[in-house]
Amino acid sequence: MCIFCKIVNNEIPSNKVLENDDFLAFHDMYPKAPMHILIIPKNHVDCFHDVQPETMAGMTSFIQEVATLVGIDKSGYRLITNNGEDGGQEVKHLHFHLLGGAKLPFKHLTDETQKNL
Ligand code: AMP
Repeated sequence: MCIFCKIVNNEIPSNKVLENDDFLAFHDMYPKAPMHILIIPKNHVDCFHDVQPETMAGMTSFIQEVATLVGIDKSGYRLITNNGEDGGQEVKHLHFHLLGGAKLPFKHLTDETQKNL
């Protein structure tokens, strides 16, 4: 069982923000922004490329609800999902990173970065 499935099953602890029957939001243990929340479907899906559109429909409104709940809906936020090896996905259970709470820098995929690819 993957680490995020263990979090869903309460086999390992997490700092939960919101959950419903289908989705769970919890704080990232190594936050990269003042607000860094991970949002996952409770049913295991490896990555974004494998997710059913119907799951994403529910996920979309759940993510919006989380952003509103933590008060970053008006100030703005960044939503990221890393997909597969080249995408830098470390945990193989679909998750969205919801990042906010400050004006976030955007260092990746600048012209300078692209020169080094
Ligand atoms: P990714 O590189 O997109 O797969 O992101 C995985 C994220 O999961 C990283 O930001 C980690 O800090 C985070 N993470 C890993 N294990 C845990 C955990 N047990 N609780 C909370 N966050 C975790």
